[in-house]
Amino acid sequence: TAEAFDRIEALDGEVGAFLALNKEAATAQAAEMDQVPFEERGPLFGLPIGVKDNIVTEGLETTCASKILEGFNPIYDATVVQKLRAAGMVTVGKVNMDEFAMGSANENSSIKPVHNPWNFNHVPGGSSGGSAAAVAAGEVPFTLGSDTGGSIRQPAAYCGVVGMKPTYGRVSRFGLVAFASSLDQVGPITRNVRDNALLLEAISGVDANDSTSANVEVPNFAEQLTGDIKGLKVAVPKEYLAEGVSEGVRAQVQAAIDKLKELGATVDEVSLPHSKYALAAYYILSSSEASSNLSRFDGIRYGFRAEADNLEDLYLQTRAQGFGDEVKRRIMLGTYSLSAGTYDAYYKKAQQVRTLIKQDFDEVFKNYDVIVGPTTPTTAFKLGENLEDPMTVYANDILTVPINLAGVPAISIPCGFDADLPVGLQIIGNYFAEGTIYRVADAFE
Ligand code: GLN
Repeated sequence: TAEAFDRIEALDGEVGAFLALNKEAATAQAAEMDQVPFEERGPLFGLPIGVKDNIVTEGLETTCASKILEGFNPIYDATVVQKLRAAGMVTVGKVNMDEFAMGSANENSSIKPVHNPWNFNHVPGGSSGGSAAAVAAGEVPFTLGSDTGGSIRQPAAYCGVVGMKPTYGRVSRFGLVAFASSLDQVGPITRNVRDNALLLEAISGVDANDSTSANVEVPNFAEQLTGDIKGLKVAVPKEYLAEGVSEGVRAQVQAAIDKLKELGATVDEVSLPHSKYALAAYYILSSSEASSNLSRFDGIRYGFRAEADNLEDLYLQTRAQGFGDEVKRRIMLGTYSLSAGTYDAYYKKAQQVRTLIKQDFDEVFKNYDVIVGPTTPTTAFKLGENLEDPMTVYANDILTVPINLAGVPAISIPCGFDADLPVGLQIIGNYFAEGTIYRVADAFE
């Protein structure tokens, strides 16, 4: 814990990964834990972790990197935070993100941008940019992120670390500030696959406080890291290596696929024919849910409150001054999609497309164990490069959003470099088959 704070102090001025630090409480907790006998310590005992700032932490400021939550000190811990503590982990602080998890570059943080530790002129990805950069810079070995449409996997790919989006329902969302409730999942970001498997096991499980959490057994994932993938059936969707994927990314991913063959897996090309509609469906559905979820930020209950003469003005002024541009854009898009006159053409249509996308995955998983492809079409872009162009940034999510729409799990692991920036390999599994994903991921290490 002390080492983590030293690293943060030395590096974070340039990286920008951390928001609130939990120094006093974490140091006290660590000192107390030094007294615990060795035989009572589990595999994650005493290890420092950073928690994304949309996961509530009792008494530790939680802002979602938004002005509207400035000064908000939650009165309880999210279920995942309680589970970290039960595993003996020490929360050293809250990590930076795109405001309310909306973005792919961490440039929508209302507090400060995050810099990619591999090259400070590039973005770390988003929205869990702080989570990925903190691990890549060696500030902490573990972080939690959240993934609604790629926000764990895309920054993990850009920063050359391991990030897992679990099956929808695997991990409790209680205490995760909701962006799009039917898509959101909390997941681990780590330096290697084994750490990731251990952390996912620690945070998983059914929770009486989240009715969408699944009552399924939580396996010992680390036990499944046998290194043996002989006979495993791997599918490569042709849509995931289509135009838009850069030459450098394609070459590294192809090399990873060849490696799988070498290790004894069989590899076939398949099709996920509705992939081309995923981006449009995702932005309609996620914005619709966000417009509803974010109505709770009214200036009365949490954080920032604007000066105003009357109640209505207080709501209007708080939201006008408290939310950033991207969040407002999503609220407007979502409110529009849900309106009586446009609901059938947008929201309902997008739900129908979502079902088709889920069926695409079901079809492939009838015959294959995992689906493999790139996590992102390119490596990390430059800070500021796409600031005026939200559509280009949205397009970056094309390979990650279908997974959330279907609800299946997927990991991003590092697979080489293109011009000195990391490339991510995405491994997608069937529902609750995270163990199989980890087994394949581990075969590369
Ligand atoms: N980039 C996507 C978005 O902006 C994904 C965000 C996420 O997964 N939280 O909505």
